[in-house]
Amino acid sequence: MTEPKRLPAHLRRIAHVFVDETMQDSPLAQRVRHRLAGTTHGDIPWTVVPPDSERVTFSRGDAQALYLKEYKGRFLRFCPGTRAYHCCAYRIIHIGENCPMACSYCILQAYFQDRVLKIWANQDDLFSQLDEGFGADPAARFRVGTGEFTDSLALEHLTGYSRDLISFLGDHPNVVLELKSKVVDLSWMDAATRTDRVLPAWSLNAPFINEHEEFGVSTLEERLAAARTCAQAGFRVCLHFDPVIHYPGWREGYARTIDMIFDYVRPEQIAYMSLGSFRCMPQLTPIIADNFPDTTYIYNEFVPGLDGKARLLRPLRVEQFSFMVDRLRGHGMDRQLYFCMESSEVWNQVFGYEPKDFGGLAKHLMKQAFGEG
Ligand code: SF4
Repeated sequence: MTEPKRLPAHLRRIAHVFVDETMQDSPLAQRVRHRLAGTTHGDIPWTVVPPDSERVTFSRGDAQALYLKEYKGRFLRFCPGTRAYHCCAYRIIHIGENCPMACSYCILQAYFQDRVLKIWANQDDLFSQLDEGFGADPAARFRVGTGEFTDSLALEHLTGYSRDLISFLGDHPNVVLELKSKVVDLSWMDAATRTDRVLPAWSLNAPFINEHEEFGVSTLEERLAAARTCAQAGFRVCLHFDPVIHYPGWREGYARTIDMIFDYVRPEQIAYMSLGSFRCMPQLTPIIADNFPDTTYIYNEFVPGLDGKARLLRPLRVEQFSFMVDRLRGHGMDRQLYFCMESSEVWNQVFGYEPKDFGGLAKHLMKQAFGEG
């Protein structure tokens, strides 16, 4: 008799599946059921609920529930940037909500206070909306990602969602899809007919932050090894330092990670790399303090930004950014670097130029994404 397989570590807290009545027979629900069978989680309970059931709640120690839901809203959205800062005009494909991992700084804690991981199971509706959005004008180009309200690959092992999306986008060469994650799952790779239309992306941080503020995620080495595998297969990758955190020892920490990147990938294999300082909606601070009592960076000196979020004092942000940008430039990175939500002043102080000098950030990143940078 074959031993049941174990799920990847970040999925092992899933202890219950809920599925909308209307989605029970959907290909996605059937796939999840099939993939759970034969694992150590093969007999977790499944509960069928009426569609639109906002009453699905789950609370059992630190266990989590997976909810395969019929989603009635818009699947294609704009990233909620703000006009006050240079925003990258990213579009979001909304595939679900919440994340099985736990990072102390995660904004999702303020949005979703339950342990229910939602996945939109009505993929037909999603694909028809995307067809309308991307197919209306094939000359229009789109840079899209799924990692805004969830991690792009966290549930991939069970859902195969990114793989489906990549297969679908094979018919839409005017779209570049970024898959942003903190885990390693490369099962989508062979679905890509064009390696230049998928950008696998990993967030990075200083080793201390990875070890003390990110739980259930892969190590920096694992993420970079995955980036190398993708680069060797012909994909360009994206790497993101977000959030950059001011903590004792940050110089050594960020220098270590920056140097490590180039043990794995070459600068020309990186499509772009963002740097974003820790930003925090006022209501998030007490949630972080509550969920992560050992976290101290929330007590740094912050000022309210133009978007209402608390951000580190500008001289400290500029000091950290300058240090990191100098080091990255020393490794041959330059025009791939950009700031997430910073002002022209900060751009000029650190880079010596601002987005309007190269035609605007959105246009610039579109070119980088399509390999024209
Ligand atoms: S991996 Fe990303 S989405 Fe998940 S908890 Fe961490 S920051 Fe949040």
